[in-house]
Amino acid sequence: MPSADIIIMNAKVFTSDESNPGAEAVAVKKNRIMYVGTNQGAESFKDQSTRMIDGQGHTLTAGFIDSHVHLLWGAVWMGNAQLQQVETIEDLRNVLVAFADQNKTDAWVVGRGIRYNIVSRRQELDEIIAHRPMYIGSFDGHTAWANTKALEMAGILYNDGREMLNGIIVRNENGLATGELRENEAMDAVFALAPIPDGNRKRELLKLAIQEFNKTGITSVHNMNGDMEELMVYAALEDAGEMNVRIYVPYHIKPETTEAMLKEAIEMSKIKMDYVRGGAVKFFMDGVWESYTAFNIHPYADLREAKAEPIFSLEHFTRMASLCDKMGLQIAVHCCGEGAVRQALDGYEAIQKTNGKRDSRHRVEHIEVCQPEDMPRFPELGIIASMQTSHAPLRREDDITWTDRTGSQRWAFAFPWRSLKNAGAKLALGSDWTVAPFDPIFNINVALNRQKYDESCPDQRLTLEECILGYTRDAAYTEFMEHEKGQIRQGYLADLVLFSHDLFELKPDEITAAKANLTIMDGRIVFEAQGKT
Ligand SMILES: [Zn+2]
Repeated sequence: MPSADIIIMNAKVFTSDESNPGAEAVAVKKNRIMYVGTNQGAESFKDQSTRMIDGQGHTLTAGFIDSHVHLLWGAVWMGNAQLQQVETIEDLRNVLVAFADQNKTDAWVVGRGIRYNIVSRRQELDEIIAHRPMYIGSFDGHTAWANTKALEMAGILYNDGREMLNGIIVRNENGLATGELRENEAMDAVFALAPIPDGNRKRELLKLAIQEFNKTGITSVHNMNGDMEELMVYAALEDAGEMNVRIYVPYHIKPETTEAMLKEAIEMSKIKMDYVRGGAVKFFMDGVWESYTAFNIHPYADLREAKAEPIFSLEHFTRMASLCDKMGLQIAVHCCGEGAVRQALDGYEAIQKTNGKRDSRHRVEHIEVCQPEDMPRFPELGIIASMQTSHAPLRREDDITWTDRTGSQRWAFAFPWRSLKNAGAKLALGSDWTVAPFDPIFNINVALNRQKYDESCPDQRLTLEECILGYTRDAAYTEFMEHEKGQIRQGYLADLVLFSHDLFELKPDEITAAKANLTIMDGRIVFEAQGKT
């Protein structure tokens, strides 16, 4: 009998495997699962060198796969001032002044993660720090604010008449920049001047971020932006034997991306390392509701004259997506508005007609609003709904900005996880970190406990079982890895997470009491809570 390296006994094993849903024990040899079954059965794989772990009756699942993150980008964020907790302009002052003091030798002051409606004008930032250029990004990455010094350095304080494909420099009636920058091109006009961390610093921040992911049970991620350069940063970490997460990296197609540039996506798709893989492309069809850049069908509820154009016209999207589809690449499209969702589906339908139906598993990301008539199109076209549950306000009053922009007419179709699932769509779950915290328990909490925004809304809550499947089996399917991971099954990769509780014994509103206690990635223990196992 071959011996196991690790055996976890006395666990409530949720396998995500329909043919064998539950078990007591799992044995691991090297990087594979060698046995799933009873305690007694697992015992026979034990020898002196086997690490025995008592599961204490807690839930053991396959390692969690976050289907939508921005890993390197997020890791670099971790080196900036953290503004997620800021609630007032006074808080903002305190955090930025302290950060600027601690980082005196940096020319710039960069902050990340602020919510909307805390700051809007450059003068407010000038009052905090005027002599150093300052740039602060919103939590969702779609808006930023800069002080006067930064705007002057970027040459955009005065209106130079520049036109942007994907960006708005907000200006007052005299043409002066107010300090608010919407979407990539406008934000980049300033942010491109801020020094980026060097290779070593980047790598340290990345390792730190991955360690934090492992602490919450995450063993795989789908990155949602990228290029060959970014993929190479991850590959170098794997080469150095320091990579503790599996990562799927797409090539980001921008409006200015030419057909010839798609060669880079093809080159990336050839990279299939143990932990780092290419094979996909990512588009942004629109922006976000908060900054009126979501592409909608009906007007914004709180500003009827606001009208966002899609980042790609239907013709442009279909042309580029069709080329990618022909090359066998998987396509993911960011769509927050209901118009963007429809346009992505229209494009997918068109390329299916011209290129023929194949096992493409194209996806739509976010789907913050979806018209009911578009929902059945997901299963019909074989499109995966990639959703991040904690983007939805838990209660309407938790995010007045979002609920005001969309208005009550849309709430019945807002963050429609349950409706899409009922329509037959496959759901892949994730966080969109840094937009939201990556901790799966935090995201599952919203999925289990979300309230109706008003009485006319259908209940969109998911069950715990559905959440785990969305984070394991179905997320693995979404990245074409369903035969390797996402289930606890003999021969599958040994990516596992043991929780602090039997999750199924907790009431939905108690779920946040649970944490990951032990995370195994590729047969290696990458996180172990002190004194817990
Ligand atoms: Zn994202």
